[in-house]
Amino acid sequence: MGQAGAVSDLPQPRPNVAALPLYKPGRSAEAAMREHALDSAVKLASNENPFDPLPAARRALADAADELNRYPDHRATAVREALAGRFGRTADEIAVGCGSVGLLQQLMLTYVDPGDEVVYGWRSFEAYPIYTQTVGGVIVAVPNRADEHLDMAGITAAVSERTKVVMVTSPNNPTGTTVTHADMVALMGATPPSTLVVLDEAYHEYITAPDAPRALELQAQHPNLVVLRTFSKAYGLAALRIGYLVGHADVVAAVDRVLIPFAVNGFAQRAAVASLAAQHELDERVRATLAERDRVVADIAGLGIPSPDAQANFVWLPVGEPALALAAELEGRGVVTRPFAVEGVRVTIGTPAENDRFLAAIASLVEPLGLRGPATTA
Ligand SMILES: *Cc1c(COP(=O)(O)O)cnc(C)c1O
Repeated sequence: MGQAGAVSDLPQPRPNVAALPLYKPGRSAEAAMREHALDSAVKLASNENPFDPLPAARRALADAADELNRYPDHRATAVREALAGRFGRTADEIAVGCGSVGLLQQLMLTYVDPGDEVVYGWRSFEAYPIYTQTVGGVIVAVPNRADEHLDMAGITAAVSERTKVVMVTSPNNPTGTTVTHADMVALMGATPPSTLVVLDEAYHEYITAPDAPRALELQAQHPNLVVLRTFSKAYGLAALRIGYLVGHADVVAAVDRVLIPFAVNGFAQRAAVASLAAQHELDERVRATLAERDRVVADIAGLGIPSPDAQANFVWLPVGEPALALAAELEGRGVVTRPFAVEGVRVTIGTPAENDRFLAAIASLVEPLGLRGPATTA
């Protein structure tokens, strides 16, 4: 087991895998407390729902515990049927996966051969480069516009006969901005039917923009459009790992072929069905988050910190150079956020008390870090 000699005799990972960026999960509040010797800290780093699980979801978990010795339903039939009923589709137009990230991996495994191009806006969700590179796809990253929105004209122009998959993220992570329905109509009009367009709507439930895509409606005309959604964010089931895809039955059947056997566990299936049945309780929680989002956005604007239109359960502060310093200073004050070096800091909307703590902390940093944007003329 000698450590001498840098290259080991062990089998080497494929070059694509060796070159992968590591997925960086948000830091925990506990890690921040230890490092900064704080009595308390709050985690606003992973866009989780800050509320306790729904009582119906807890009950479903207790019931599922009685079946621990059995494999779950591989196809998650009850979840597919509940979602099909909700969207007025058939169950064969719904796929269920181990988080929507699991479905993203299934999509890449199913459709992208080495050398095929995958187009997406950047900066966006960090899982996209990881799964594109894993299968040997060629990344075509279209830089976001100066106003932090996805450049939909640029993404549309980047589609060619080499493009196998286009990812559109709305709201986008980490910028929080949505694309418009007209943007999606234009993209679909310019994309051949043999190219798959994936609209990642992990934060769909938080959208208030009136012109956001009505993707399920567009699917009637464009069977090459699929929608990814998740129970991890608004539904508050992040720990259970369950997401879904709405799309053409042929796409669903294809991605189902590469689903790891029983990847969607029985707890997740039961909790998802129970949560869908308790929609009004979830709606109340989403409304509470939206009220807090309004408050945080107004406060940030009042401090003079520029921020694009927030359409998810987080705000994006494109502060540029001081991004890492800002996140470090916030963490020292017990507020864990998600920094992107020299780009910005993403801050999840938490409970009112958590948000108060963030707002107090950032107010004290506006002057020292020069966070105020260029003065706007009223
Ligand atoms: C959080 C997030 C997801 C959700 O991932 P799960 O695997 O369903 O937990 C997907 N896409 C984006 C852009 C996200 O931010």
